[in-house]
This record gives sequence, C-alpha cells and structure tokens, in this order.
Amino acid sequence: MQGGEDRRKAQAQKNIVEVEYHGTKGLRYPHRLNFYDKPPSGDITIEEFETCALDRLRILAEIESSFVRNRPWEELSKITLAQCEKYLQLNSNSAKTVDKEAQRKKDHVGHFVLRLAFCRSEELRRRFVKAEMALFRVRYEKDDAQELKDFQNSRDFGWEEVSAKEKADHEEHLKAASAWSNRDVNVLTDGYYKVKWTRVPDLVEKRRVFLKAGMAWVPSREQSSIVFQEFQANLMKALEMTAKALPFLDEDTRIVPILNNLSQGFLAGVSSEWSTATAGSGNEITADMIDDMARKHFPACMRNLHECLRRDKHLKHFGRLQYGLFLKVLGLSIDEAITFWRRSFSNIQDDKFNKEYRYNIRHSYGLEGKRANYPAKSCQQILMSDQPGTGDSHGCPYRHFSPDNLQTALLSMYSSQGLTAADLPEIMNTVKAGHYHVACTRVFEITHARQGVAKGEGIGGGESVTHPNQYAARSRELEREREGASGKKEDDGDVVMG
Ligand code: SF4
Repeated sequence: MQGGEDRRKAQAQKNIVEVEYHGTKGLRYPHRLNFYDKPPSGDITIEEFETCALDRLRILAEIESSFVRNRPWEELSKITLAQCEKYLQLNSNSAKTVDKEAQRKKDHVGHFVLRLAFCRSEELRRRFVKAEMALFRVRYEKDDAQELKDFQNSRDFGWEEVSAKEKADHEEHLKAASAWSNRDVNVLTDGYYKVKWTRVPDLVEKRRVFLKAGMAWVPSREQSSIVFQEFQANLMKALEMTAKALPFLDEDTRIVPILNNLSQGFLAGVSSEWSTATAGSGNEITADMIDDMARKHFPACMRNLHECLRRDKHLKHFGRLQYGLFLKVLGLSIDEAITFWRRSFSNIQDDKFNKEYRYNIRHSYGLEGKRANYPAKSCQQILMSDQPGTGDSHGCPYRHFSPDNLQTALLSMYSSQGLTAADLPEIMNTVKAGHYHVACTRVFEITHARQGVAKGEGIGGGESVTHPNQYAARSRELEREREGASGKKEDDGDVVMG
C-alpha cells in the first residue's frame, strides 16, 4: 500500500498520468483503422492526455455540426478529412517520413480519454457513438484497398462466405435483393457473406439482403455495414461498462476537471478551446477603431455588449470581463483599453473610475494581483458558465435571449450586412435544437457572403465558430483579403493604363 502511495506521489510530482493498463505493454499499431478493443498502455503527460482528447473533440464536434446542418455525406466526409489533416493525421503504412506509431497512439489515447468523458449519461453516450461511428466510416471509406483488406482479415467479423453452389441455388432471390441497385450485378461472380440478420439491421430494413434461416446474405459491396454495425455495438457496450467503472476514477484530482471540461464542451456542441495565439495578429487596434469594428466584425455576443455599453454608458462585472478580455485578445493595448473604458463610462467622474475600474482593467491584462495573463472566454465558457440574470448583458444571445428578442436583435445588428427576415427561420430552428454556435456560424456565412463566403463554408473549410475572437479574426482576415485583392486589381490596372 505504502509503495503504491509513493508511486502515486512520484507521478503527481512529475505531472504524469498513467492511462488504464489492461492491454499489453508496448502496443504496436499495424493498421490505421482501430476498433479500440484495448485501452492504451504506458505513461503520458497530463498535457498529452488533454491535447489528444481536445484535438479529437474538435473533429467530433465538427461532425456533429455537419449532422445539424444536414450536410450530405460527401461534404461531411470532406470536412472531416480536412479536420483530421489538421488535428489528427493518420498516414498509411506506405508513408515513410512520418512517425506513424505516434499518430496512431494519439488517435488511440484521444479516443479513450473521450470515452471517459462521454460515458456519463445516455445522451452523451449516444452522441459520442454517432460521431465516432461517422469518423470511423470516413476513414474506412478512404482507406487504401490493401490496408483495408489487411484490417478486415485482422479481426473475426463472424462472417461466412457463401459457396458457389449456394449462390446458384438462390440466384433468383439474390438478384431480387439486389434490384434496388442500378449497377450490373452478377450474383454468381460477386462475393456474398452470411451473418446473423441482427447484425445488419439497416440492410434488413432497406430490404437489401436475402434472408435465410436467420442469416442475412450480405453482398461484398455491403460488407462495410457489418463492420460499422460491429464498431457501433462494441463501442456502446464498452461505454456502458466504462460508466460503471467511472466512480473509481474520481479520486484522481488531476483528471476529473479535464474530463468535466471535455464533456461540458460536447454538451454545448462546441469543441472547447480555440487557440487565441494568432487572434491579435491583425495589428494592434485603438479605442477609436472599436465602434467601426463592432459593426463589421463582432459576433452577436460582443456586438450586444458593445451596444449595451454605448446605450447605458456602463456594463456590469461579467459583461466587462467578457468584453474586456475579448478586446484584449483582439489587439487592444492596456493604454488603449483604459482610454476606451474611460470614455465609455462617460457618466462617472475620474475619481470613481480610477478607484473602481482602472485596477480591474489592469488586472485582466496581468498587471495587478497575481499577474496572470487571462485568456478571452470561448463559446463553451460563455454558453455554459456565469448565466446572465436580469439586467446583465453578458452571455450568448443565441442561448440567453428569448426567441423574439433574438430575432429583433439579429435583424438590427446584421441587416446592413445582408441578413434578412427570410434567413431567420433556419437560424431559429438551429437555436431551438440547442446548437447555438451553429446558428452563429450560419450568421457569419450570411453576413460575409459579399466577401465570397458560401453556405456551409463556416469560418473556413466548413469549420464552425467556437470562439468569439476566432469569429472576429476571420472576419478581419476576409476584409484584408478583399482589400488586398482590390488593391492588386488597381495596381494591375495601373500597369495596363501605363
Ligand atoms: Fe458569441 Fe460564441 Fe455565442 Fe457566437 S456562439 S454569439 S461567438 S458566444
């Protein structure tokens, strides 16, 4: 007991967490695809634990957004692959210059961390399985033919090949079951596999298989259905088992807050943090620029705060915090911030401002108190914490406004940028379903259509809004691109004229 306690302390000191160990040590990953039968083994740092999960969560959240937006499968697949390229690369076995083991380990660890976070309720389990299933299918469909075959051969899927004689005996039935397909089907030369009918309910429901003695005869082109069904059933069962084991994890005070944060993000439909590291890269801004920027580039939450500030010449604590940190990350220096807030609170005297507000502004810039550099709040934080009460202006309008107020506010904020009453039903349906950041993303697309943003493109590559600063940064970037393009045209014109 004492030894175990010492080991725990030593690990805590090194900030290292041991992932569950039921598997063999020194896992190898011969395939890109993974059924995640065994938990990863070995030591990883807390940071790695969290990063693997966050990167995977970004992809799953984007898949969920695609479902909400009714994207066709091809589009969902394209967006998911683009996200995987960014956050969770998985190269094929033939790739020479990348560390495939590290990539596959990240995939493995991320999956298991999210299992811990999302096994806690029926709702979370259902959504997690649906998103994971889609990710698996996207990868499966894009896998190299030989590697896919190797993967299929590496597991026992419990299918039995139908013999040539059996096919000949039931040729008419097999043809009838293929009638839905417009392709040329040659029953005698195509491959068929027998499985219990309960393993392919989707094919049975669509009458795409011949049934005999409780077995479904699945054509080889539909073999993937068996694989997907098995993946889904295994994962659901594993999540239920993990949920039962979860109370034993509660003692690890390092992991629990991370898991809570992850599941909160998923509940909010938003993939947690977006890096604000590059948000201020569009040069510093000054107090004088903010009115104009709010009109052109701010998401509804910040636009609302700005308008309340202008109307009331004041904002309550949480409003100042949400807006002040947003402006800081946008590029407002401490001196400009003091100028901005001083001018905005025009109803109060210098004395009161210096006593009650100057300190807090300097504090949020890390210049007072514990001198922490506070980050701006993400959509997840705004949606899930510090719920606004009467008289408060912080929060997310998509979540915290009544439907009538939201529609009026959106029209008043964004009609000059192209939003019309005809756009509202679609936005309000998304809000009603609780997908606030998807509604915000749709408003971004509509209000940036003039800059060439198409429906479904989101803030770039189909990505959804997850952070107010990301919204504003992308909006400014689009403006700069547009100005650059028109500047270039004029230059080109000069050359022609000359
Ligand atoms: Fe702001 Fe995020 Fe809500 Fe959009 S979804 S209004 S960026 S909190």
